[in-house]
Amino acid sequence: MTAKYDYDLVVIGAGSGGLAAAKRAINLGKRVAIAEKEAFGGTCVNRGCIPTKLMVYAAEFAQQRVIASDYGWLNLQGTFDWPSFKQAMDKHLASLQAQAINSLEGADIFRGQAQFIDAHSLQIAEQKITAEFVLLAVGGRPKMPDIPGIKYAIDSRGMIALQQLPKSFIVVGGGYIGVELAQVLHSFGCHITLVESNAFVLDGFDCDLQKRVKQMLTDDGIKVIDGARLKAIEPQGQGFTATLSEGQTLEADQILCALGRTANTDTLNLEATAVSTEKGMIVVDSHGRTKESNIFAAGDCTATMLLTPVAKVEGIAAVETMFSDRATIDYTWVPSAVFTYPEVATAGLSEQAAQEQYDNSDNIEIKRSCFIPLKYAIATSSLEAFIKLVVDAPTQKIVGIHMVAPRAADLVQALLPALKKGLTVSELQQTIGIHPSTGEEIFSI
Ligand code: FAD
Repeated sequence: MTAKYDYDLVVIGAGSGGLAAAKRAINLGKRVAIAEKEAFGGTCVNRGCIPTKLMVYAAEFAQQRVIASDYGWLNLQGTFDWPSFKQAMDKHLASLQAQAINSLEGADIFRGQAQFIDAHSLQIAEQKITAEFVLLAVGGRPKMPDIPGIKYAIDSRGMIALQQLPKSFIVVGGGYIGVELAQVLHSFGCHITLVESNAFVLDGFDCDLQKRVKQMLTDDGIKVIDGARLKAIEPQGQGFTATLSEGQTLEADQILCALGRTANTDTLNLEATAVSTEKGMIVVDSHGRTKESNIFAAGDCTATMLLTPVAKVEGIAAVETMFSDRATIDYTWVPSAVFTYPEVATAGLSEQAAQEQYDNSDNIEIKRSCFIPLKYAIATSSLEAFIKLVVDAPTQKIVGIHMVAPRAADLVQALLPALKKGLTVSELQQTIGIHPSTGEEIFSI
């Protein structure tokens, strides 16, 4: 008997979500096709997590140099050469793209932009294919404000693609991408002004983390302007003038906007289906199913959390629901990190979220600990680390953990299974620490 459709599943987008979903469907023995209009690996590999974290590692050398002489390493000289670093980075990204393609063995690969003809039929470049199920894993792109002169600004993607590093930047937006890039570029020797419309950076993070990170950036020598929006950009000599909402003007060689992301849903011809969007993001139920029953969506094109591990589990859950058992995702303990120096890491409820969620604020207990990591004990420059627990007072269960500390991301990741199981503060403290480490500071909280 000939199959009704060309494929059991067509995945649109070979980023984190699409690749994970396609691999799962291949393993289930399904006939899979995947369409990609740009580089395989998507945002994370080509213009997101990987290049920015390689930049963070490049910046660490400058941060270590600050305390090197305290450790007896005198006269550590040298300047950062962006083209040399970029060459090494681009080589690695190309190898990851190749790995992404190799991982799709067993699927048919279509290169080009996919568009719906109807709920089961797609046009990809000159080809038309049909599928029982379609997974939309089309990701997103940076949001740029509609202001005069915005064409002169670059986004995170443009920053990573720069051939030469400008001497000064105005970074607009104090979310995690803006904060990471501001600190990295500052470490590379660029003069940085960070413009943020709120009073603090890292909107959505715990209030103590927001305040500490803003202070950390200022202490580093980054000028942070809060409560202001970018209103216009004009070319000025070799650089640009930015006008802010209060009429203030700033000059820099380059203006970098990091103002959030918008989903790549506008070119899919979703009108040919029943798939609906809200503010451009695809509306899905708890299994990733859209309003069109055979079409699912995962990752940054939906309104969940814009993180690679989330895109992956959503892609896999959608495939499980299509071909096996219905799968849902518990977002309660999704961790996130900001790869500043020191790192920010967080999971569970922020203090603000706990206050909103609990009827009686007496039922929330906040525990904080500040400490100087041993590495900085003999350094002339200081670094204060911070751990905060949000605790459900009656049960003493930890409902949120927030840190600014060296290796905070690894520590929060390692604690997650215990936190998810409902660990109490005293149970956490019944273990024995590793000395000296950031983790052992939890015992003195
Ligand atoms: P994407 O990876 O964006 O993949 C979507 C793919 O679909 C793209 O390749 C696109 O070309 C393709 N596509 C779109 N439309 C079509 C079409 N019509 N036809 C064919 N192909 C199409 N997350 C973390 O967890 N940790 C980090 O440290 C981190 N750092 C980041 C730093 C930056 C600067 C940025 C921008 C993001 C970062 N992220 C990070 C977020 C992470 O990159 C995304 O959450 C993740 O890549 C989303 O995966 P996705 O599969 O949903 O989409």
